[in-house]
Amino acid sequence: MIIAVDGPAASGKGTLARKIAAHYGLPYLDTGSLYRATARDLLVAKSDHENVNEAVRAAQNIDPDSLDDPKLREPGIGEAASLVAPIPQVRAALLQYQRRFCTGPKGAVLDGRDIGTVVCPDANVKLFIKADTKVRARRRFLELEASGLMMTEAQVLADLQKRDERDRSRHSSPLVKAVDAHLLDTTNLDIESSYKAAIELIEGVLGDGGKTD
Ligand code: C5P
Repeated sequence: MIIAVDGPAASGKGTLARKIAAHYGLPYLDTGSLYRATARDLLVAKSDHENVNEAVRAAQNIDPDSLDDPKLREPGIGEAASLVAPIPQVRAALLQYQRRFCTGPKGAVLDGRDIGTVVCPDANVKLFIKADTKVRARRRFLELEASGLMMTEAQVLADLQKRDERDRSRHSSPLVKAVDAHLLDTTNLDIESSYKAAIELIEGVLGDGGKTD
């Protein structure tokens, strides 16, 4: 079974996707971490998105063991990731990684921007998570504050708006709701209520046959 979870930055899709994967006993892939790792490896090589060959090489050589690196969560890396993400050859290299991941025997839960539209267009269930921009900025601000990173809420909001705009307007696999995705607005929901609403949506699509074990 494949479950696709898409949405803009800080919509809560990552937390939800992780909980959905645990609920159904499925492997989970945070596809944003692939773009973040590509950006980090480029920075380490003292390069950036303008060097397309280097960017593609970085995307082709992602070390899966490096995807938990806490550095990937830093705002600068999110920004750099959204600058490598429009490069079609980078997306093609990461598409192969994502497709390999979800062809395992159980299937998978993947979250990102183009899972329902490009990576897994035949997913059994597609969710598109949205939330008011100011609410998303507040959540991200609190997360960053808890991890000791100093940014004002206004800076976080400006960064989110810039990144959303870039993700929505790029030519290659833009952030867009798949026509057959189910919309979940988490603006007024905490994590637990969002999770319950997501499971209800999924069960509604699958009936009771969705459990894999
Ligand atoms: O989800 P996250 O915020 O970690 O993603 C970082 C960036 O990676 C996004 O802003 C987007 O530019 C890119 N991305 C993408 N396609 C995905 C996942 C992430 O373009 N499937």
